[in-house]
Amino acid sequence: MKQGIGLPVFPGVAIGPAVVYRKSERTLPVSSGDPAIEQAKFDAARETARQQLSGLYETAKAQLGEDKAAIVEVQMLMLDDLDYLDGVAAAIADGAAAAIAALDTGEEFAQVFAAMDDEYMNARSADIRDMSHRIYDILCGNVGFQLPEGSFLLVAEDLAPSETIQLPRERILAFVTRQGSSSSHTAILARTLNIPSLVQANLSLEDAENCSVLAVDGYTGNWYLDPDPETLANLCQKQNEAASARAALDAYRGKESVTKSGKKVLLCANIGCPEDAEAAIAADAEGVGLMRSEFLYLGRDSLPTEDELFEAYKKVAEIMRERPVVIRTLDIGADKQVSYLGLEREENPALGLRGLRICLTREEIFRPQLRAIYRASAYGNLNVMFPMVASVWELKAAKALCAKVRGELEAEGVVTKDVPIGVMIETPAAAVLAPELAKEAAFFSVGTNDLTQYTLAVDRQNAKLGAFYDPYHPALLALLAHIAKSANDAGIWAGICGELGADPKMTETFLKMGYTELSMAPGRILETRKLVCESEV
Ligand code: PEP
Ligand code: MG
Repeated sequence: MKQGIGLPVFPGVAIGPAVVYRKSERTLPVSSGDPAIEQAKFDAARETARQQLSGLYETAKAQLGEDKAAIVEVQMLMLDDLDYLDGVAAAIADGAAAAIAALDTGEEFAQVFAAMDDEYMNARSADIRDMSHRIYDILCGNVGFQLPEGSFLLVAEDLAPSETIQLPRERILAFVTRQGSSSSHTAILARTLNIPSLVQANLSLEDAENCSVLAVDGYTGNWYLDPDPETLANLCQKQNEAASARAALDAYRGKESVTKSGKKVLLCANIGCPEDAEAAIAADAEGVGLMRSEFLYLGRDSLPTEDELFEAYKKVAEIMRERPVVIRTLDIGADKQVSYLGLEREENPALGLRGLRICLTREEIFRPQLRAIYRASAYGNLNVMFPMVASVWELKAAKALCAKVRGELEAEGVVTKDVPIGVMIETPAAAVLAPELAKEAAFFSVGTNDLTQYTLAVDRQNAKLGAFYDPYHPALLALLAHIAKSANDAGIWAGICGELGADPKMTETFLKMGYTELSMAPGRILETRKLVCESEV
């Protein structure tokens, strides 16, 4: 048995096989100098891609149905597209390596499709890109990430949100990363999924690869490779105790979240995708306090279309029914990057073009999202809020676009409902300006993760700064009190949607400050309700 420690980010015990995720290390493709050889390499890779896709098609059909599997079928047809094949042959004849010819020709076609005035063809742009990347990977010898059957604990150096989102969440028993911080988006995802997780674990990837069983104690942060019988028995006992504690919390299911003196709080769920809304309902959430809508944009090769976004928001609205749902508009930037937006590399991405700043400068990105939200508004109780606001003019500009979009939709005969517009308070400027913003907003929701980062000037991603990332810092508490008071004075509601919302040490403080909504990972709702119901505040 080997053992070590990490920083726990979600409690629970997981025991099972370890799978090590390594980012693909690409070998740069070089041409042999002979077009005939390159063409033969391309032809062989095309056949391998065909076999891979036909395997994928069968799996997708069995698991997701014929409809969804059609996406794979489209890519199989593209493998035989004569224009694409001619383009590749011409590039190879010009001296390009097979892999580069496949990739560049795919990219050219993808851009042509994306520029067409036809939603169907726009969506095909991602398919051709995906298909040509597959051929490229085959030619570069990148075998991709092979997952075993069944459930496993995932071990990695670090995970980006765009990688995490592509993993088969239902089969992951735990995340263990050597890097990462407790407020990183991967840690947040792990909490949303109720998965015990460690970051900053001193576990070597090689050791994890060579073990039969990995056990993770998400309460203490300990990990064990091939645990001895005594350790295993202790961990199993902990697992059973945790199951009993969860069962005891079931008494709070269906109960109102009201303190002993009658103060009512709405306990909501943070979600990333429509499927999480089911988890929110299963966890007895009273609404969705934060839908991180950017997760719909991650892990793909092109912007989601307005229709795709509409379907996602409609699904959440329908699942949540009359319960309020707060959709946060696109918060790309910092650690959540997508390559297809063509954003320049920044020296200081956390202070760069992110959140509402992208939306206000790239209306072609923002507008389809707002249209989708207003179209979906007819199906439930939707609210919208903007991330990374620092000035009143930004809120006014975003609100003006909302009004314009809604007007246009109504002129097109689309039924929309009123969508209350709120502000995410996560910059110190927004916190200080809360009384001014409150005149323009229907509600506030405090993003304590970023508010902590920006108030204390401590990078939330940097594992080495853990001791300085203090969410209980008096400066932060003063801002939190000021935000709640400003909201209460203006007669609007204020909530917390950062990780602090589920912190049992803060529940009473938030109630005293005047917050009336707390939004958190679905798995934390019942224990927070217990605290609220037992509170005298
Ligand atoms: C926050 O900053 O607290 C927040 C909820 O948003 P995110 O963690 O997605 O940046
Ligand atoms: Mg934030």
